[in-house]
Amino acid sequence: MPCCIPPSCIILPGTRNIDQTHSPQLESWVASANHPDCEFPIQNLPWGTFRKPGQEQSLPGIAIGDRILDASSAFGVESLAAVMAQPRERRIALRRVISRYLSEYQTGADRNLTALAEAELLLPCSIGDFTDFYASLHHATNVGTMFRPADPLFPNYKWVPIAYHGRASSVVVSGTPVRRPSGQIRQGQFARTERLDYELELGAFIGPGNQQGAPIPIAEAEDHLFGVCLLNDWSARDIQAWEYQPLGPFLAKNFATTISPWIVTLEALEPFRCDPEPRPPRDPPPLDYLSQTAPGAFRIALEAWLRTAQMPEPIRISHSQVASLYWTLGQMITHHTSNGCPLKPGDLIGSGTVSGPQKENRGCLLELTWRGTDPLSLPNGETRQFLEDGDEVIFRGRCEAPGYRSIGFGSARGMITNESAS
Ligand code: CA
Repeated sequence: MPCCIPPSCIILPGTRNIDQTHSPQLESWVASANHPDCEFPIQNLPWGTFRKPGQEQSLPGIAIGDRILDASSAFGVESLAAVMAQPRERRIALRRVISRYLSEYQTGADRNLTALAEAELLLPCSIGDFTDFYASLHHATNVGTMFRPADPLFPNYKWVPIAYHGRASSVVVSGTPVRRPSGQIRQGQFARTERLDYELELGAFIGPGNQQGAPIPIAEAEDHLFGVCLLNDWSARDIQAWEYQPLGPFLAKNFATTISPWIVTLEALEPFRCDPEPRPPRDPPPLDYLSQTAPGAFRIALEAWLRTAQMPEPIRISHSQVASLYWTLGQMITHHTSNGCPLKPGDLIGSGTVSGPQKENRGCLLELTWRGTDPLSLPNGETRQFLEDGDEVIFRGRCEAPGYRSIGFGSARGMITNESAS
């Protein structure tokens, strides 16, 4: 870490940690960052890992307008993993340093910029573990209704944040083609999946984490939340339906998970912090170890877009709101560690499919087409029950709040291919 970073700053628990880096008046000398539609204004400062054109070295960087600021040459940052492992106060202090660097021009500072369009964007860090939750009550209710109409939710749902351990090795960065997987799609048949689906999710990267045997209390959970990204938990529904009992998802999920390259930090999300949606009446309150006094939700609008081989202009097929989740990211982190399970810097958590109450808020094709019984009609006359080869799914995300600069997530995209990996 560079020596110019102050050692600490004060975090006020239970309040928004808003400072000068969130001021809507703040502008950058990187002119493209000041455009009102820009996803990466100076108030955002998302982290990623990139390569400069023609170079082998991977570098930690910060997206600003249509440029990437090289954090290794500007601040001596070795890697994004090193930033994630820092205590929250240090990360807040670093954000202030970066904000000032990008708002007050110093001679030669532009030498640390690379055009976003020319850079190769990589996975942000080496992901040690990946856990995918199931935190949307709307999603769980829709899927449960399809398979168990009389009793859609299992009795544990409103008590315990449900999750399964995914496969970190199959997480890929946006733009990586997604090969249609083969598997046991029904009894007696091994073949290419016929029911390939996406799941619109929020990903969360873990910051410092905990020692094995030392659970993270709910009041400290967000200290271990580095930031969030878009996440597509590609799913083969036929493989899933055949294999999932009694131990849950396995090969239906771990062939690929796509994430966006930019991690929007917890600090950048502060203006969009809110109370979670109220629980339905008569639902049990969270147990004490999951009970949050501070507003622990974030208003993040997610969108899924679809482009097909015959439809080059993508269309939006669903949109939903992260604040509608039944469990917050803090509750997921605390629950995950409640038995002493260690979380490490760079571990990835998925929220589970983010769906909402209306049809257009359904976060996967399984829900949107109701298991294929109500196919999606596209404007060019095509229909979809599930994804076809050549389809590209594109996720977007945006945060807006009165009095603050809107920030975006970039995109997480993947095209379905039917080719074997070479
Ligand atoms: Ca999922």
